Amino acid sequence: MVAKADNNPTSPCPICRKPTAQDAKHFPFCCVRCKTIDLAKWADGSYTITRSIEQDDLEEDD
Ligand SMILES: [Zn+2]
Repeated sequence: MVAKADNNPTSPCPICRKPTAQDAKHFPFCCVRCKTIDLAKWADGSYTITRSIEQDDLEEDD
């Protein structure tokens, strides 16, 4: 038997960097766990600032 790795291109999982097949069920994530971790980062504001601008933000340079 000959390995056929060349027929299965991979990309690193954004969360754990594990090589992930591009036809994987949860691509680009290696598994549903990493997919959930990524969604959680968005949900808790790690990627974006979700807090609204308040009056104190506008008065810092007086
Ligand atoms: Zn992963």
